[in-house]
Amino acid sequence: MKKHNFNAGPSILPREVIEQTAQAVLDFNGSGLSILEISHRHKDFQAVIDEAVALFKEVLNIPEGYSVLFLGGGASMQFCMVPYNFLGKKAAYINTGVWAKKAIKEAKNFGEVVEVASSADTTYNYIPKGYTVPDDVDYFHYTSNNTIYGTETRIDPEVNVPLIADMSSDIFSRPIDFSKYICVYGGAQKNLAPSGVTFAIVRNDALNKMERTIPTMLNYQTHVDGGSMFNTPPVLPIYSAMLTLRWIKANGGVEEMARRAKERADLLYGEIDRNKLFRGTCAVEDRSYMNICFVLKDEYKHLEPEFMAFAQERGMVGIKGHRSVGGFRASCYNAMPLESVQALVDCMKEFEKLH
Ligand SMILES: *Cc1c(COP(=O)(O)O)cnc(C)c1O
Repeated sequence: MKKHNFNAGPSILPREVIEQTAQAVLDFNGSGLSILEISHRHKDFQAVIDEAVALFKEVLNIPEGYSVLFLGGGASMQFCMVPYNFLGKKAAYINTGVWAKKAIKEAKNFGEVVEVASSADTTYNYIPKGYTVPDDVDYFHYTSNNTIYGTETRIDPEVNVPLIADMSSDIFSRPIDFSKYICVYGGAQKNLAPSGVTFAIVRNDALNKMERTIPTMLNYQTHVDGGSMFNTPPVLPIYSAMLTLRWIKANGGVEEMARRAKERADLLYGEIDRNKLFRGTCAVEDRSYMNICFVLKDEYKHLEPEFMAFAQERGMVGIKGHRSVGGFRASCYNAMPLESVQALVDCMKEFEKLH
C-alpha cells in the first residue's frame, strides 16, 4: 500500500533524493567506492559541499557577506552557539514553544534575556503580537515555525535590531529577506536532508564581537575559516542536502515551494474546518503551513484511537500529535505531494460518514 508520510522529523524527502542517495551509498560518482567510505577531503566531496553552499545561497537569495555552514549538534546546539557568538550583554527572545523556551534557557547563561512575549499560558496555540523589542539588545531571536504546536510566523518581524531565527522546520518553504538577519539556523531533518547535519547562515561582519573566549568548536568563525571542514562533517547528510537543493531549484525554487505549501495547507485546513468531527488547535491567522495540528471535537474525543487505526489502514504515517498537544499533526514539508494531503482529507471525510 502507498504510504503517506506525515512524520514531523526526520521526515519526508523527495523520492529522487532518496534514490540518488541510495545510489551514492553503493557507488559515489562512479568511483567504485561508497560515499560512506570516502574521505571528506576527496575532491569530489569538496565539489559536493561547494555546490550545496552555492545552491543554498542561490535558492534563498542570500546576499554577499554571509557564510553557509554545515555543522553537527542539531538545532539544539545552536541554542547555545547563538548566544556564545552574538550575545554581549542583552538579547530579546519571544517564547512561542518548547524550542523557543530551550533557546531562552541557554541564552540566560550568557547575559540578560528579555522575554518580549509568551503564549505558554495557552499551550502556545498562537503567536503573540504587539510586543516591543528594546532597541538596546544585541539581537531578537524567534522561532519561525513552531513544529509541535503548528504555529508559524511567515513575515520577517519588523524590529530595529538584528534578527536571529530558528528555521528548523520551515526553511526553504518561502523567500526570506536575509538582510535583516545575522543568523538563521536549523536542523536539516525537516525540510532538507536526513538527520545528522545542522545548517547555520551567519553574517560575517557580526562575528568576533564578543569579549569572552569561545571554545573553538562553538565559534562560528572556526567553521567559516574551515569551510565547514574544521572537523569531519556529516558527509552523507550533506550529500543529500545538495540533492534536495537541486530538487528545490529544479522545481521552481522557494516561490514555488511557498505556493505548494499554501495549496496543501488550504486543502487540509479547509477539511478540518468543514468536517463535523474535527477542529483546528491554533489561532487561524497563525496556522502553520508545515505542521498542521487538529483534534477531534470534545463530543467525538473517544473516537481518537479509532480514527488513528482507520487512517493507518489507509496508509497515513506519523499523524499522531506531539505528546504535549495530543490529537493529530500532519507535517507537510516541501516534498509532500498534494495527493497525500488529498488522501488524508478523503480519509477524514470517510470517517465522518461513519459517525
Ligand atoms: C526539531 C526542532 C528543533 C530541534 O532540532 P535538533 O536538530 O533535534 O536539535 C529545534 N527547533 C525547531 C523549530 C525544531 O522543529
